[in-house]
Amino acid sequence: MSFEAVIGIECHVELKTQTKMFCGCRNVFGGSPNTNVCPVCLGLPGALPFPNRLAIEHMIRAGLAFGSEIPAFSKFDRKNYFYPDMPKNYQISQYDMPLTQGGSVTFWMLDGTQRTCRLERIHLEEDTGKSTHAGSADGRIAGSSYSLVDFNRAGVPLMECVSKPDLHSAAEAVAYLEALKRTFVALGISDVKMEEGSLRCDANVSIRPVGESELGTKTEIKNMNSFRSVHRAIESEILRQTGIVTSGGRVFQETRGWDEAAGVTHLMRSKEKAHDYRYFPDPDLTPIEFPPDEVKRLRDRLGALPQARLDRYVVHDKLSIVQAHQLVDTPGLAEFYDASVAISERPQATINFLLGDLSRLANDRGVPVERSGVRPETLSELVALTESETINSKTAKELIERIWSDGGSPSAVVAAEGLAQVSDLGAIDAVIAGVLDANEKTVADYKAGKTKVMGFLVGQVMKASRGKANPTLVEQRLSEALKA
Ligand SMILES: [Zn+2]
Repeated sequence: MSFEAVIGIECHVELKTQTKMFCGCRNVFGGSPNTNVCPVCLGLPGALPFPNRLAIEHMIRAGLAFGSEIPAFSKFDRKNYFYPDMPKNYQISQYDMPLTQGGSVTFWMLDGTQRTCRLERIHLEEDTGKSTHAGSADGRIAGSSYSLVDFNRAGVPLMECVSKPDLHSAAEAVAYLEALKRTFVALGISDVKMEEGSLRCDANVSIRPVGESELGTKTEIKNMNSFRSVHRAIESEILRQTGIVTSGGRVFQETRGWDEAAGVTHLMRSKEKAHDYRYFPDPDLTPIEFPPDEVKRLRDRLGALPQARLDRYVVHDKLSIVQAHQLVDTPGLAEFYDASVAISERPQATINFLLGDLSRLANDRGVPVERSGVRPETLSELVALTESETINSKTAKELIERIWSDGGSPSAVVAAEGLAQVSDLGAIDAVIAGVLDANEKTVADYKAGKTKVMGFLVGQVMKASRGKANPTLVEQRLSEALKA
């Protein structure tokens, strides 16, 4: 019997705001433990929360980007559970009336297929503090058994995106997460740094026989700290569950932690159900009413979304999936590409320059392409000069390096310095004749069957033409001259 994996992702994203969700403490990463706290985020008696408007706007923009419904009415609820890193012993979250509902995330797989994962909802909550357990890598006193807690992170606005179980492989789960991350970066609503915990995710994984429509029992996997871990953890969990089921056993609903070093998931606890949290509306916070004209204002300001860009690059411009992603994921490059292609109308030649020589220079010099001397118009000129075979690729490469530092117009440099490619057969033949005369021994070697010397002779002709001869024609005329 063969099995199909069914995966849903819960993705937590810390929102980028000046202050925390319900108080005036700064929303910054790090700092000395417990220095960025106040009575509200410490949950001291009598302190009252006050919602952060920008965080709510970020949430609604995220929902709009994924086509979610934005209900006119929403509220905050208390999610009750006891955990040492949560000072109030409840978390302000949203239960039955989240800020956004539904929507979907579309993304491209490397094999060129497009997938869609529906969203259940995106809701807003506050982040918890952070526990450090003694004996762990960063525990303070080895051998003792206690934990330290830092509340600097408590109360930071946290968005939770809950997907429907529409994903069927580790690769799809990672591509989905990358699509989320890309969109949040474009919207400017989060740093999405997994290493600093501003993007965290849990995966719900189950398996079922192929063809079965009912869902199997799922496990929730936690503690994955990179997209690579997400991939490995899901693959390992699918294998574990398949092993259990094929040997006649049964999968239990539980929360499992991912052990990066061992490459396996392990039991953390049996899974809580919603009623364990005893949700009820937070009496300290009034419900949120978000008028349609406000939603419209946010929708109008969404800007170019990465998914629409990717679709255009793949479907219209015929870029490869890898090229399209590289373009969209490098800040500033997609705008540069768009501006240049708008003039040249040559997507493939443009992307080759951008992801080739220009990206190499950007790396070498530590300066992004858009801050170099090369402008979108310059690039379109270069594309025109090479496509019309006015200059060869060697000259183009040299021009790019010069313009990177000095700026200027490639056509003007080509005209002023006579860099145009020589395609005149008479001129090429004359150079070839000179080279053959000067290399009698090599010519004799060639005629004796050492055809490898051809490369050397082509090089000599190119050199004699100061790099300007059309290399295709040189090769053609040279082999004809040698045969003669
Ligand atoms: Zn505070």
